[in-house]
Amino acid sequence: MKALRLVAIGSPLEEQEVALPIIGAHDVLIRVKAAGICHSDAHYRAGVSPVSSLPLTLGHEVAGVVEQVGSEIEDFTPGDRVCVHYLVTCGQCAFCLAGTEQFCPAAQMIGKHRDGGYAEFIAVPERSVFLLPDEIPFEQGAIVMCSSATSLHALTKAWLRPGEMVAIFGAGGLGISALQLARHFGAAQVYAVDINPRKLELAERLGAIPVNAATSNPVEQLREMTNGRGVDVALELVGLPLTMQQAVRSLAILGRAALVGLTREHFEIAPYSELLNKEAEIIGVSDHLAIEIPLLLDLVRTRKLVLSHGIIRTVPLDADAINRVLDGLANFGDDVRVVISP
Ligand SMILES: [Zn+2]
Ligand SMILES: [Zn+2]
Repeated sequence: MKALRLVAIGSPLEEQEVALPIIGAHDVLIRVKAAGICHSDAHYRAGVSPVSSLPLTLGHEVAGVVEQVGSEIEDFTPGDRVCVHYLVTCGQCAFCLAGTEQFCPAAQMIGKHRDGGYAEFIAVPERSVFLLPDEIPFEQGAIVMCSSATSLHALTKAWLRPGEMVAIFGAGGLGISALQLARHFGAAQVYAVDINPRKLELAERLGAIPVNAATSNPVEQLREMTNGRGVDVALELVGLPLTMQQAVRSLAILGRAALVGLTREHFEIAPYSELLNKEAEIIGVSDHLAIEIPLLLDLVRTRKLVLSHGIIRTVPLDADAINRVLDGLANFGDDVRVVISP
């Protein structure tokens, strides 16, 4: 089968002909119909975030059709529409049994620690496979499994309650989902902070109040817009020390800043005035959980979470096209979401 693979760190992905994956008794072979190209993939290609071994087929946002099932599988049959939870876990350790499988010591992320979905087929354990409702197109089924799932997990970790004020730093793929979910969960007001006018425009169309961080300090703008109070929940989805600091500084008394964006750099806060005195909290968010996926798919199916506002573009399973998209993501380009359609 055809696969788009990372062969050397810092180099463009290459098209290779690889063997069809062999499935075990508890595995499902899926014919890939859609694979999202994610900002993380640009990080893997650049070596910012290390992958297990090379060559590696990237792609952790996958939806498709069941092609073949292992001998022990009863819940799926060939022809089923499905999407894939990107973490492959042991299913037996204390973390897996507690439903916090993102800490499973044996966890492998598809497209990072094992071959992913930039290919014609992918094999994954049954535990990572979810039925995709007919109402949800494959492209949406793919991207919902990463950015939207993580946005949902972040709002859960931040204990968002109805009537609260929310600021979302970064109005890209994660942000567009986060602001719709925050509104659905009853946020009184959602502010979208970005420097890209196109992203701010889309956020505004989806009901958020745009805050342009390119024109003036977003912390001051948020204070002004909330009559000096600040926001109850700030989600940091960018992964820059500056926006992390801004997220914390924009908090109201008892506010929670949930940090989702990745960086190895440090950021500074003033403990007394910015944290202790307000009993504010900084919360780390890592991935999302399999138990959250059915709710997420239901929100997409019932159009509480809409992913079709011209925010998805498709490209073929072609090295040049995909490398160009990854170049754009590495430079924080305009593309909200691009999906490979093999
Ligand atoms: Zn992703
Ligand atoms: Zn485990």
